[in-house]
Amino acid sequence: MKIVLFGAPGCGKGSQARKISEKYNLPIISTGDLFRFHISNNTPIGIEAKKYINLGNLVPDEITIKIVEERLKQADCQNGFILDGFPRNIFQAKALDQITKIDLFLFIDVSISEIEIRAVNRRICPKCNKIFSMLDVYRSNCDNCNSTLIQRDDDKIEVVRNRIKNYQATCDDVIEFYKSKKVLQQILSAESADATFLGVDEVIKNYLKKKAKK
Ligand code: AMP
Repeated sequence: MKIVLFGAPGCGKGSQARKISEKYNLPIISTGDLFRFHISNNTPIGIEAKKYINLGNLVPDEITIKIVEERLKQADCQNGFILDGFPRNIFQAKALDQITKIDLFLFIDVSISEIEIRAVNRRICPKCNKIFSMLDVYRSNCDNCNSTLIQRDDDKIEVVRNRIKNYQATCDDVIEFYKSKKVLQQILSAESADATFLGVDEVIKNYLKKKAKK
């Protein structure tokens, strides 16, 4: 099962990706995590990507498509995967379509006013990438590996606003593209990740049921 998770920055894609991955045993390919890995290791890709990420802008398509293409060739992706944060524009969507066909495009729908609040209250574990919301429970350490949680530089309010602006400029084309491919599923973001996952999981189960009947 090849899944794309799509939605505005801070809509909860990362949390949903983890839940799907745990339940269905699929690897998560998060372009944001791949870039953060390159940045923390000071690789040439990381040095280049950082210039864009810290301003809330998209990393150029050539770099992004290349790292996704390389990652999807690896053995663990051959039976399916969850793409989190890719594609983000129509150019990337068309490039992905040339690489492989997607089974489910899950659009997590949330209002823009909600996003700002969520993004600035988000913390991430720098070691295991687990995501926490200070709106759920205030905590300073990861409940998985006990590392001190940090705020991503690009979760600061001015940067969040720019990320939302960039998202709004490109999202309609991507959604239309997957609608035309008949794989679009829209899920309303609920007040908690667990509640949103009920909707996500129902869509996945329906997909698997239909596939089993074929
Ligand atoms: P994320 O963790 O998905 O919010 O991504 C963090 C940042 O990485 C984004 O704000 C972009 O600067 C960059 N990034 C992640 N995915 C992509 C993508 N598909 N295309 C371009 N830039 C990306």
